[in-house]
Amino acid sequence: MSETLENLLQETRQFPPPPELAASANVKEDAYAEADADRLAFWEKQARRLTWFKEWDQVLDWSNPPFAKWFIGGQLNIAYNCLDRHVEAGIGDRVAIHWEGEPGDTRTLTYSDLLTETKKAANALLELGVSEGDRVAIYMPMIPEAAVAMLACARIGATHSVVFGGFSVDALRGRIQDADAKLVITADGGYRRGAPSALKPTVDEAVADCPSVEKVLVVRRTGQDVAWSSKDVWWHDTVGNASGDHVAPALDSEHPLFILYTSGTTAKPKGILHTTGGYLTQASYTHWAVFDLKPESDVYWCTADIGWVTGHSYIVYGPLSNGATQVMYEGTPDTPHKGRFWELIEKYRVTILYTAPTAIRTFAKWGDDIPAQFDLSSLRLLGSVGEPINPEAWMWYREHIGGNRTPIVDTWWQTETGAIMISPLPGVTACKPGSAMRPLPGISAEVVNEEGKPTGGGYLALTQPWPSMLRTIWGDDDRFIETYWSRFREQGFYFAGDGAKRDEDGAVWLLGRVDDVMLVSGHNISTTEVESALVAHQAVAEAAVVGATDPTTGQAIVAFVILRGGADVSTNELRDHVAKTLGPICKPRQIQIVAELPKTRSGKIMRRLLRNIAEKKELGDTTTLQDATVMTLISEGMKTSTED
Ligand code: ATP
Ligand code: MG
Repeated sequence: MSETLENLLQETRQFPPPPELAASANVKEDAYAEADADRLAFWEKQARRLTWFKEWDQVLDWSNPPFAKWFIGGQLNIAYNCLDRHVEAGIGDRVAIHWEGEPGDTRTLTYSDLLTETKKAANALLELGVSEGDRVAIYMPMIPEAAVAMLACARIGATHSVVFGGFSVDALRGRIQDADAKLVITADGGYRRGAPSALKPTVDEAVADCPSVEKVLVVRRTGQDVAWSSKDVWWHDTVGNASGDHVAPALDSEHPLFILYTSGTTAKPKGILHTTGGYLTQASYTHWAVFDLKPESDVYWCTADIGWVTGHSYIVYGPLSNGATQVMYEGTPDTPHKGRFWELIEKYRVTILYTAPTAIRTFAKWGDDIPAQFDLSSLRLLGSVGEPINPEAWMWYREHIGGNRTPIVDTWWQTETGAIMISPLPGVTACKPGSAMRPLPGISAEVVNEEGKPTGGGYLALTQPWPSMLRTIWGDDDRFIETYWSRFREQGFYFAGDGAKRDEDGAVWLLGRVDDVMLVSGHNISTTEVESALVAHQAVAEAAVVGATDPTTGQAIVAFVILRGGADVSTNELRDHVAKTLGPICKPRQIQIVAELPKTRSGKIMRRLLRNIAEKKELGDTTTLQDATVMTLISEGMKTSTED
């Protein structure tokens, strides 16, 4: 970005918290002042929400930046905090997980059940030769054993690396090799789109080139045939027969908890390393604060997969450390019908729903009549994560899912940050559709220019270390420093890679990846604002915008648009609509109507691939792409469409 980002989209709607929610909110306005007065004392207080076997001697060691240490000298066990202490406190009978398989089979696990399973799995891992400090790869469908596997690793101090169950052999192999995993935990398969989808053959193929792997632990989920080698052991034989007695050991606060690879939206995935005490402190606090969790009465549902950081922090560690009751669902939202999510909300009386903009835009595309067929009145709070949420998608979510009643928390964070950083507090903040609003108490973020000075529109930077920050990129300290800490080396700020603006009230608006910002006739224009303008047209469900090299303007705006079911509109009308909303400078040179957009497996739009299409270049790395045929369809459509 040469100058600053243009500020184009004006949004004046605002929704204050419902009075009852505000009155009984877990976190009130004073938290900001308290954290500002003494940030480290504030985080110490949040750390005390957990049970420590030994208290820390020092809160933060930032003497060797960018390598932070939190709660130095402290000792704790994450599985103990998520399970044992709740059972000891007498809530062992509370449901931890209402699990729903895609075919409709169900399981209910209380905190006692989950503790017993985790102790057995911990003993089984030890018997299989896994010990503190070893790495374990987890490649699983969304079944309770996935959470148990993570908790068992955390319990014995093995570092887990969860690989999303939809990834290919190459992706799995590369991640196992990068971490030198000793054990792989998997399943025969899981249910996806109405049929068993095999996992074990992918593991077999990957492990053939991974000499570090000694054993493969296999859960039987689908019952499909699997090849069997001398490395393979069944979960039901090992975990099933293991002892249910296990005392959680005290682990160092900086003990490596997990490695997780980023989604790969912009570049080759990075193995992000998170540790124990600081990570759990912030994951637990933010889950309680941002979702206003009332563990006795709420039924919480996060629709992410455990293969993403959202699944780590807001399915496993955050909710379980808070004693929450949650729904966990194995399958896709359209199986066996497009109302499946709403049916589950009605069935379990879900009160808090946390999902992604890509899902929200898909639901809007499928039609308002689908959620309208279900009783969603139990919902009291909605959350969004993963991409900027366009104001119109936010409004649709509020109206059609939230019954015009529920606050929406738009939560900005990354695999690297480990936990939510910028978000409304539902009992405090008057939310603006499309804005993540304000850094949470204890978090310092700024929108800065190239020189690291505060500005209205520019780069998002994190200006102080935070407890759940990444500690490094696994095995690559140099890439860690280069990627995140070199842009603002002088200031010592963390560079998030996202563009943002701050409005006159100080609210933060995320504007997409810095790499995606378009430079049109000397103006820096964010992809997000043009996409939001397109989505605000009643015919448009989803839009992706890129800057393509242009002989006259430097870059020109090219948009790819998915229409709502049954909608019909000319691309010229859409171009005029953008020009009217944002100004003539933003009028797309070309708009292509498409049936699908290229997305990562976590559902994020991959603009770098669209840019290559718009510029008629080679596609580049597509390994994290959800569906490669989408690209062929789009580029063929481009060839036949004419530019006007
Ligand atoms: P890679 O870093 O490999 O390109 P990725 O950035 O997609 O992959 P994640 O860590 O899963 O990997 O995603 C974090 C990114 O998602 C953020 O940097 C931001 O771009 C986007 N994001 C997440 N939540 C929000 C939000 N609420 N508003 C806007 N953007 C968001
Ligand atoms: Mg990223």
